[in-house]
Amino acid sequence: MPELPEVETVRRGLQDHVVGRTVETVRVLHPRAVRRQPAGPAEFETALGGRSLDSARRRGKYLWLSVGEDALLAHLGMSGQLLVGEPDRPLSPHVRIRFTFADGGPDLRFTDQRTFGHMCMVRDGAELPAPIAHIAPDPFEAAYDPAALALRLRARHTGVKRALLDQSLISGVGNIYADEALWRARLHWARPTETLKGPEVSRLLTAVREVLGEALAVGGTSFDDLYVNVNGESGYFERSLAVYGRENLPCPRCGTPIRRDAFMNRSSYTCPRCQPRPRRPRL
Ligand SMILES: [Zn+2]
Repeated sequence: MPELPEVETVRRGLQDHVVGRTVETVRVLHPRAVRRQPAGPAEFETALGGRSLDSARRRGKYLWLSVGEDALLAHLGMSGQLLVGEPDRPLSPHVRIRFTFADGGPDLRFTDQRTFGHMCMVRDGAELPAPIAHIAPDPFEAAYDPAALALRLRARHTGVKRALLDQSLISGVGNIYADEALWRARLHWARPTETLKGPEVSRLLTAVREVLGEALAVGGTSFDDLYVNVNGESGYFERSLAVYGRENLPCPRCGTPIRRDAFMNRSSYTCPRCQPRPRRPRL
């Protein structure tokens, strides 16, 4: 599933390849891709024709293109991709929406094998689309306030990893980056948030920003001309992972075998020595 660094890579690609261009036609090839559009595919197709795409923005894992006062909002789901390429290339069976441009140049295709992703037009959403207004800023937005976040985090009564994944507290941190940040901050995922000390929270928030920033830097280099890509995996950052997906392999810091625990239908990876389990874990 794409996480913040991958989505940011896509945003930069959109900024480079489609912003400043005027949409000519929009064709919805699968209605599920616009299931959040109130009046359905026809409304989505007509709302954009002849309009210019002004900027590409992001909050957490949501992307939007501002179109005048309105927004074209996208969520990539599990397998969504936004691909830019020559308009005459073959149409793959997983293309859900196709946008052509008035300049006759490269087109934009929303491709989504598993159809969990979606797009919709949001009226007056250019600054912040209403459907995502409840999502907290991510660490790369100007509105992100680590001091306020630290207070809110410690006021919760939950496990620290659950708090990191709570998009109303901080957005853009998925399972992989949560595990990596917790390892760097030497905190166990089940640590109750109300027991975290000030310096532990600062260490954690610094680690979150570092992990996401490093992944972002690597994601940027995999970016190909005319190709706006999300591969649904952790991409090139994979080789830098310390704990995620590394059950029984040695901790890069102390050599202890990494442990995997079940967590919310997924997994949590920790070093049992660097990240001691709390006496009263919140699972
Ligand atoms: Zn260790």
